[in-house]
Amino acid sequence: MKSNNVLLLSQLCGNLCMLKVLNSIKSIRREVISYHRKNLKIGFVPTMGALHKGHLKLVEESVNETDITIVSIFVNPTQFNDSNDLKNYPRDILKDKILLKESGCHILFNPSPEEIYPNKPETQISFGKLEKEMEGKYREGHFNGVALVVSKLLNIVQPDIAYFGQKDWQQYIIIKRLSEDLNFNSKIKFVPTVRETNGLAMSSRNQRLTSDLKEKSAVIYDSLKKAKKLLRESNDVKLVKEFIETIFADENQLSLEYFEVIEAYNLDRFEDPREVETIVLAIAVYADEVRLIDNVLLELN
Ligand code: AMP
Repeated sequence: MKSNNVLLLSQLCGNLCMLKVLNSIKSIRREVISYHRKNLKIGFVPTMGALHKGHLKLVEESVNETDITIVSIFVNPTQFNDSNDLKNYPRDILKDKILLKESGCHILFNPSPEEIYPNKPETQISFGKLEKEMEGKYREGHFNGVALVVSKLLNIVQPDIAYFGQKDWQQYIIIKRLSEDLNFNSKIKFVPTVRETNGLAMSSRNQRLTSDLKEKSAVIYDSLKKAKKLLRESNDVKLVKEFIETIFADENQLSLEYFEVIEAYNLDRFEDPREVETIVLAIAVYADEVRLIDNVLLELN
């Protein structure tokens, strides 16, 4: 719940509130200490920028649930295992600032790589079985990089609630576990995936798709919905996997990297879906050069 004085203040200034942009750890720490002294609840949305409606949904939740919303924009080099992917990652800080101003976000933390990594980090964080499947299997070192930067950001920003998107389900599960295992003082919350009108999960990487390929990529979410229905009706994981493989075998610009059906919170494989409460059906597809991921949840019991 927002405190009353901040509620009044935000009603008065509406969307006209100034966005404060901070680049140094020292300056954001100073700001955070002053909010904590005033007992204001801090919401935090870590991003890599090139903002779209998916990111803005996370910001909206934070603005609704907390007093002060801090968004970070930092394209984290340690989570990219492909230097081309890092180089081609879309960046548009001017547009991002406008979107954040309109969203009601209070603070943008936009540090340089040197500010976050003054030295090459030596700390390694591994997640055992949680990174054996899906993204962890295909993007070596990815979650070590994600965990490093998220740990740094959570230590710097000290939020009451940090918001993550369902689109990156494995990331959400790993950050949640990281926070529990290391006793971070932040609640880790997920926000459902925001989609284009054709169902494609919004992603900064979608900017790199031609409009034709964007249309074709609608098959990703479409096939996930059908797979979910088939799993509910058949309880047969193998059949569902074959179904997805058949769909993508017929696509020439879309190539399937993985499709997994696993328990949603522990990321365990299972024999019989009837013994599981929540399942995640997760997919990664290359649309030409662009790597797209998506998932749906299936609640059974
Ligand atoms: P990124 O900038 O891609 O690192 O994403 C920052 C945060 O926004 C992550 O927690 C993502 O899961 C989340 N996010 C990205 N795309 C979407 C989407 N389409 N819907 C909801 N959340 C999203």
